[in-house]
Amino acid sequence: MNNKNKNNLNNKEYSFNASRRSNKLNQSSLTCLSSRGKRVIMHSGGGGFSLSKLTSVLKKKTQSDFDRVISGTSKTREKLSYMDEILGLWRLEDLDDTLDDLEETLLSVDFGPKTAGKVLDTIRELVEDGKIKTGEDCKRALKETIVNILVNDGGDPTKMNVSDDEKIPTCVLIIGVNGGGKTTTIGKLSNWYKNAGAKVMMVPGDTFRAAAAEQLQTWADRTGAIMSKSPPNTKPGAVSYKAVDEAIAMGDIDVILADTSGRLHTNLDLMDELVGVKSSIKKREPSMPHEVLLVLDGTTGLNMLNQAREFGQQLGVTGIILTKLDGTARGGAVISVVDEMKIPVKFVGVGETMEDLQVFEPLSFVDALFPEEEAGDA
Ligand code: GDP
Repeated sequence: MNNKNKNNLNNKEYSFNASRRSNKLNQSSLTCLSSRGKRVIMHSGGGGFSLSKLTSVLKKKTQSDFDRVISGTSKTREKLSYMDEILGLWRLEDLDDTLDDLEETLLSVDFGPKTAGKVLDTIRELVEDGKIKTGEDCKRALKETIVNILVNDGGDPTKMNVSDDEKIPTCVLIIGVNGGGKTTTIGKLSNWYKNAGAKVMMVPGDTFRAAAAEQLQTWADRTGAIMSKSPPNTKPGAVSYKAVDEAIAMGDIDVILADTSGRLHTNLDLMDELVGVKSSIKKREPSMPHEVLLVLDGTTGLNMLNQAREFGQQLGVTGIILTKLDGTARGGAVISVVDEMKIPVKFVGVGETMEDLQVFEPLSFVDALFPEEEAGDA
């Protein structure tokens, strides 16, 4: 992990390339040597640096992050709490009925039949092997099974791909249909990268929607990002090509967040355009884009699977960002999307402010959906 700017949040490492600016980073960054002897930088979140301050910032961050995950999943959790009643009545003799009830509860929060079936098959096997004897055992096994799906099937959700060439910024291409929360997510991502010490450039690649560029500009102003100076009325491919050119020439941009259209005359037009944008970026810099993040509206539940498939097939999606989880009881769809798409969910949106973006952590997420205290109550 050489020449990378590291941001250690929630005790996991997220990294991106900021080495070109490393000599300019102020005292709020901790510089140390990586295992390969290269300089890496950990950002403490502002102000003069001290190790105890860093620890305390991260601790607070961890707690507030978890609080947001808790509040952002309240509707799904409320529905799933019925599971505690089912498990409270656990009797081996009623296994079939219990498993049916559990499956129904999972389906009620949009787990999806395939994924719910897979989870329950695992539970049945564990019961048959004598590894589940009580309702509490069953809850623990359910949680483990779900975490395994999220971790194994989706790759490593806690890693963001970065440029490994210090002269080349990390390019993140953001795709998704209109209304899903794409612009808001770019704003939130810009804030996230900024908090980790990065200089961000936004690219107004949605030339179809008249107000898109102004909306993006507002988020750039809010989060201290700059906008690429793309000439008006140019095609999205050209806008992106020129933006990459500009960012490389500037020499101090760490991250490019490239917006794209979310609606065109037909879906086919949209896919063609997005493929074109991706190849224009690649033409200017073959290692880009480092991430293709698909923004999906969490309130659409399982319906998002079709969208995910279509975008996934055509564009090589590297990660998913699920928005609006705070407003829905369909949070189980997160697990189905990972299970079926084998693409990691990298972030979830749990509100409308720039702080409301959570790095997706399977363990915290599953803990938030199935809290332990309630198991004891049951
Ligand atoms: P776009 O058309 O895909 O760019 O979508 P926008 O970013 O304009 O978002 C559409 C609406 O969804 C706006 O009202 C946003 O404030 C709202 N929104 C976006 N993300 C979230 C989220 O995580 N939670 C909630 N509650 N609202 C969100």
